[in-house]
Amino acid sequence: MATVAAGELRSVNPATLETVGAVPVTGPADVQRAVELAAAAQERWASEPFDERRRVLNGVAHVLLERLDELAAVVVAETGRPPVEAYTIDLLIAIEQVRWLARGSERVLAPERLRLGSAYLLHKRARVVYEPLGVIGLIAPWNLPLAIPLTQAATAVAAGNAVVVKPSELTPLTGAWVERLFGEAGAPEGLVTVVQGGADTGEALVRAPGVAKIVFTGSAEVGRKVATAAGEALRPVTLELGGKDPFLVFADADLDRAVDGAAFGAFANCGQLCVGVERIFVEKPVYERFVDGLAARARSLRIPDDVGPLISERQRAKVEDLVAQSVEVGAHARAGGRRPPEAPNGWFYEPTVLEDVPRDARIENEEVFGPVTTVAPFDGEDEAVRLANASPFGLGASVWTRDAERARRVGDRLRAGMVWTNDVGYSYGAGPAPWGGSKGSGFGRTHGKHGLYDLSNVKYVDADSGRIPVPWWFPYDERAVDGFKGVVRFLHGDDRFRALWRHRRGLVHLGKRFLS
Ligand code: NAD
Repeated sequence: MATVAAGELRSVNPATLETVGAVPVTGPADVQRAVELAAAAQERWASEPFDERRRVLNGVAHVLLERLDELAAVVVAETGRPPVEAYTIDLLIAIEQVRWLARGSERVLAPERLRLGSAYLLHKRARVVYEPLGVIGLIAPWNLPLAIPLTQAATAVAAGNAVVVKPSELTPLTGAWVERLFGEAGAPEGLVTVVQGGADTGEALVRAPGVAKIVFTGSAEVGRKVATAAGEALRPVTLELGGKDPFLVFADADLDRAVDGAAFGAFANCGQLCVGVERIFVEKPVYERFVDGLAARARSLRIPDDVGPLISERQRAKVEDLVAQSVEVGAHARAGGRRPPEAPNGWFYEPTVLEDVPRDARIENEEVFGPVTTVAPFDGEDEAVRLANASPFGLGASVWTRDAERARRVGDRLRAGMVWTNDVGYSYGAGPAPWGGSKGSGFGRTHGKHGLYDLSNVKYVDADSGRIPVPWWFPYDERAVDGFKGVVRFLHGDDRFRALWRHRRGLVHLGKRFLS
């Protein structure tokens, strides 16, 4: 956690409550200056060949490798996570994504020939080209303090943009590395700049003249504010918001694997993953066995070796409040439900499994973003789908079954941005896989070709010799009306010959115009 005081952000380790370091807050005038510098750098960058973009991106991956342990130490110090999670949930993802962008962007962003398909447009040569947008403003959360801002910055740069990144005020030291990595990789000055601070710095970036698009990753509550402010400036936004992912276990599933997957999905990063498993639904015949297994697994996880702390005192208070309110209205904790009795100094909370949660409990609709999951039984596919879709969020979802046909059938009916079978969350680290939500989880996509398109101006460009007359230009007259009725009926009606005969005069008139 960090505090904003007297122009300084102090970063605190949430596992020990010790200060890790401090950075100066960037004021609004400096945010604007960063955007101007970025705009100047972007003009030059846009005209660089893909080889140069590849050189910089591969350079970032190279520096990441060189500095791997140093970076992991900063991530661990600012988040209090078990060290393995610094490598799995941040560094591995970041390097995979940067490498994929270095390899794949040129192919994805190459101009595409379009076949227009209409008889009267056959003489035109059309293409779609993908141009940079300009300066992208990135606002990032703390939960993947390196992978999120670095992947998004790398996507922006790969598409020919410059970026101003505002990392979370809770992980400013890790955030600062995004600029350093690009700098050490030889990126031009100003191409990737980090500005530091909380809501004020974020707001200044959203409103700064010269920003072409905002990519925001964070809570739905702040996302709404960001989209409103961006809307006032008619500035597009991509919103990567929270989730409340369902996890559907069918009776034919490998139950041991499902229990392990649920424990990881619900408690990794202390539950602070946007695709954290917060709602588990289990088919009736295996419900008791599954819940017994998950509760035992939750109790077996060691704090802090397996499960780190929540990021802040405020976040722990929110988790405690949601659990207390659920229990008040009738829920039971099958595991956890409290701070660890011999609590280390930090903001720890026990991995928690809640059952019998009534529909009106707040936890049913609010994202917990902590190590708490709910479990409930279901009867058949229809009920599983209905329960899974009964949420304001729609980020990820997973289906656990040995029947591939059922997994596909159920997956097709789930309203989510990502659906996984017998696994959870892994595609965040897969280069070509699109990432993003539906419903209250946001809009737009990051990652893969859709992430590159999201940060590009998709431009239609044609070529035409200018020698072919255009029959629908002025002058308008009765015979032209008859002629175009004939064209519509001939091209799209059932009886083409009848259309030709019926509108022959008008068609001849258009033909003459064309030949003149
Ligand atoms: P948050 O919304 O509190 O903050 C996100 C960022 O917004 C921070 O950098 C913060 O300083 C900034 N900010 C705050 N107020 C602002 C304002 N008025 N204008 C501009 N910027 C402002 O979220 P958080 O606590 O950092 O992150 C946790 C949330 O992020 C969870 O809801 C989680 O689900 C979500 N998340 C989503 C994804 C995804 O890919 N969909 C990934 C990771 C996290």
